[in-house]
Amino acid sequence: MKTLNSRIPEGPVAEKWTNYKAHQRLVNPKNKLKLDVIVVGTGLAGASAAASLGEMGFNVLNFCIQDSPRRAHSIAAQGGINAAKNYQNDGDSVYRLFYDTVKGGDYRAREANVYRLAEVSNNIIDQCVAQGVPFAREYGGMLANRSFGGAQVSRTFYAKGQTGQQLLLGAYSSLSRQVEAGKVKLYTRYEMEDVVIVDGKARGIIAKNLVTGKLERFSANAVVIATGGYGNTYFLSTNAMGCNCTAAVQAFRKGAMMANPSYVQIHPTCIPVHGNNQSKLTLMSESLRNDGRIWVPKNIEDAKALQAGTKQGWEIPEEDRDYYLERRYPAFGNLVPRDVASRAAKERCDKGFGVNNTGLAVFLDFSESIQRLGIDEIRQRYGNLFDMYEEITDVNPGELACVKDGVEYYKPMMIFPAIHYTMGGVWVDYELQTTIPGLFAIGECNFSDHGANRLGASALMQGLADGYFVLPYTIQNYLADQSIWPRLSTDLPEFDEAEKGVQAEIDRIMGIQGKRSVDSIHKELGHIMWEHVGMGRTKEGLEEGLKLLKKLRKEFDENVFVPGTKEGLNVELDKAIHLRDFILMGELVAYDALHREESCGGHFREEHQTEEGEAKRDDENFFYVGAWEYQGSDDVAPELTKEPLEYEIIKVQTRNYKN
Ligand SMILES: Cc1cc2nc3c(=O)[nH]c(=O)nc-3n(C[C@H](O)[C@H](O)[C@H](O)COP(=O)(O)OP(=O)(O)OC[C@H]3O[C@@H](n4cnc5c(N)ncnc54)[C@H](O)[C@@H]3O)c2cc1C
Repeated sequence: MKTLNSRIPEGPVAEKWTNYKAHQRLVNPKNKLKLDVIVVGTGLAGASAAASLGEMGFNVLNFCIQDSPRRAHSIAAQGGINAAKNYQNDGDSVYRLFYDTVKGGDYRAREANVYRLAEVSNNIIDQCVAQGVPFAREYGGMLANRSFGGAQVSRTFYAKGQTGQQLLLGAYSSLSRQVEAGKVKLYTRYEMEDVVIVDGKARGIIAKNLVTGKLERFSANAVVIATGGYGNTYFLSTNAMGCNCTAAVQAFRKGAMMANPSYVQIHPTCIPVHGNNQSKLTLMSESLRNDGRIWVPKNIEDAKALQAGTKQGWEIPEEDRDYYLERRYPAFGNLVPRDVASRAAKERCDKGFGVNNTGLAVFLDFSESIQRLGIDEIRQRYGNLFDMYEEITDVNPGELACVKDGVEYYKPMMIFPAIHYTMGGVWVDYELQTTIPGLFAIGECNFSDHGANRLGASALMQGLADGYFVLPYTIQNYLADQSIWPRLSTDLPEFDEAEKGVQAEIDRIMGIQGKRSVDSIHKELGHIMWEHVGMGRTKEGLEEGLKLLKKLRKEFDENVFVPGTKEGLNVELDKAIHLRDFILMGELVAYDALHREESCGGHFREEHQTEEGEAKRDDENFFYVGAWEYQGSDDVAPELTKEPLEYEIIKVQTRNYKN
């Protein structure tokens, strides 16, 4: 079996990053001017990296598929971003953020990476404030904080329910400054289709101009992918419709390993699925769990009446409500991590206590907090989320429904778990370099910091940590000896061959001319994934899922229909390319889930649970990162390499959110 070198620096965990920065190789200012870096992606990870590298003097080529960097999926992030500032004086520290993140990830993340993340978290807030990001403030002017799951302190910085948008505007303004300075060249509406490898190193990409349909070649001294997660493999997810994993999967086909793909996050607070023609799910931010209480009826008769529509939630009095998270997890209550909250909702619904007509929903109720704080304060905190919920469901969660025995009952939201985030992704070492030298992966598209479950508000923290504070150092260690290389011509045979390969694939897909739309196959993929590789997984289910996925790939290869031509704009063709890669990604998720005979975080194998239905890890046999390697063809099963996890200061134990 191969071994993976995670390149974790020597020394105590708390000093590794400082030591690394003190000893890494640097690129001198003159040489930076000679070096080109391709950054694919303009979300929080890509935009922050491109802006920082430009500011440092490198020449940056920055790509995105949207018409503006500001339309990257990061703009959708609602609830907030974590940092260990301890402004609340409630006992937070770098160590506590580090500890909560490792524990939240069910002890499947790399200790050294997570410590570094917690360490740089405070710099992110300073950087963003300096850019003018309008974080919420207390009356006295201090930055405000709220709580997110898996923590007993308030460390989440936010800008109403639009934190991602405000952070992205901050990163975008830094990026625009570099564009104006000529250090970053933007390529909007370009899609990376392949990475070009010369002498074993990533030296460029093949990108499709999405408007003209033409393939173009770009060379550089290093390539960074910041292309987001693979949640849309499940068709219905909270991700933006354009989110895709094509760049990551193509890098996988070229030799970058894919780590822990089975670690997929199912978010507990999404608007439930409404019907068969839906193509998108909407998140109700985790921040709502600060003041909203989750419940189902105590009595099955009440649940049946709710499902039949003969009773409404507010008609069920306080004493007949089961606040099951507060009951099961008294210490963390409604703020248990997402995997725990999602499974608890599924457990109640599986037992028949679901509250909507499909039986697949629970209530999120603000009655108590509205009475305590007043509707104005609640709207101040969550106004745009309440509006969004009302626009979609026609129910206003701030509307008083009735008063009984002096208690005010407001109309509750209905929520249900949905695919939201992917902890797995491209394997990277401590320097964020993949198994292809010169190819780096940052943000959601890598696997690095969240283990088997990400805590709320930690994705923005990781994306910005990678882009502003980690990659700008670590990439220099690689680039230090690259300035002696002349700028590569894109006429090299390696570029030729890569472009021909992409063109051949496009011709193949266009040539199928079958009978099924891209969306109908994608929807089927989503069903297979949710049924067999979803919230509860079993050996039999996964084996069946893998069979169905292989069959579906055949169906795609023989029966997909892409209208129009390959010239010019063809959105269906772009979707078909994404779907080809989602299918392969789905298989990877299933292979990984099948081999991991334990439950941890978002990966729940029903065979491995405690008597109380909690995830049961097997640290003796699975205390490692599972990294999968492509075997030359989509038809051949990938091969597994294990990177053992080494913990120096954290004691691995069973997660406990009860006391
Ligand atoms: C509804 C919602 C709310 C969320 N709220 C929060 C929150 O409050 N706090 C939190 O911490 N996290 C939150 N998250 C998670 C967080 O938003 C994401 O993990 C994070 O924004 C991902 O950032 P990124 O830069 O890695 O990728 P993205 O923002 O997804 O950006 C990907 C970029 O890559 C480009 N791209 C993709 N493929 C290609 C290609 N082949 N070629 C060229 N360009 C390509 C895209 O154009 C885009 O610019 C939320 C997620 C969702 C879905």
